[in-house]
Amino acid sequence: MKVAFIGLGNMGLPMALNLLKAGYSVTGFDLVQSQIDAFVGAGGLPEKSAALAVIDADIVISMLPASRHVESLYLGDAGILAHANPRALLIDCSTISPKVAQDVAKTAKAKGFAMIDAPVSGGTAGAQAATLTFMVGGDAKDLERARPLLEKMGKNIFHAGANGSGQTVKVCNNMLLGIQMLGTSEALRLGIANGMDPKILSDIMTKSSGRNWALELYNPCPNVMENVPSSKNYAGGFGVDLMLKDLGLAVENAQDLNASTPLGELAHHLYELHSKAGNGALDFSSVFNLTKVE
Ligand code: NAD
Repeated sequence: MKVAFIGLGNMGLPMALNLLKAGYSVTGFDLVQSQIDAFVGAGGLPEKSAALAVIDADIVISMLPASRHVESLYLGDAGILAHANPRALLIDCSTISPKVAQDVAKTAKAKGFAMIDAPVSGGTAGAQAATLTFMVGGDAKDLERARPLLEKMGKNIFHAGANGSGQTVKVCNNMLLGIQMLGTSEALRLGIANGMDPKILSDIMTKSSGRNWALELYNPCPNVMENVPSSKNYAGGFGVDLMLKDLGLAVENAQDLNASTPLGELAHHLYELHSKAGNGALDFSSVFNLTKVE
């Protein structure tokens, strides 16, 4: 079975490497040469364009930044639908708008392709350790075709529903995560302003009703936990600008549906302020610095 992997960035590269480790033949393409070099160093086959990479693939996987990249990669003249064999299964793992995911899948299916959206949760650590959670939208039979590969890259694989619903789950999850990170930062800052040791405060709240993922596993206050971005000057992890994009997707989706998401909108505004202050490339837990008490 031949796999084509397009988008070998922070997430795509370790995911593709796990497929190589599992014995798949993987042809990859990225716009950045250093990413292709790292892929080739681990046994991947390079190609000069996405069109050449997908031409004889049985399965095509994409892991790109945002909706516009996915639209142009799949629908453009030099793109996947124009060059892949229609017997191929297409799996988009990028986090994008549910509406764009539905539209691209509809066009792909009209041309005879099988396609699922399969965004992930678990971050770069999960991508490296092959413990990602996949949230899949599409036909159950197409998910079953994809499952053996997804199992080599992740631990939990959920069928959310029809095309686009994997993205809906991802958008809801990340809106909650963004809000949770801000709330956790604010509570820690208030405790610190009262003279509390943030480690003692975190330990107690972790065993109390304020417990949440950000507090327990990804504490935003430096030096409360080892091996999290806050203790490494907020380097690595999940970027502020990617969180801002995901909150933008949530706000846009809510507006389309007349759904009320005031906390999502506020979180979007606060991450935007933080990004505009020059922090876009830092890990998203760096919003802890936005809630600083002067
Ligand atoms: P990234 O920016 O590190 O990687 C994206 C890669 O896509 C880049 O290397 C870029 O060069 C490449 N690319 C863009 N357009 C391309 C094209 N037309 N052809 C080939 N390559 C192209 O981003 P990432 O952190 O790997 O995130 C990818 C997706 O996964 C995003 O949608 C993000 O929201 C989502 N995600 C990220 C994380 C995380 O912790 N980083 C966690 C879950 C989900």
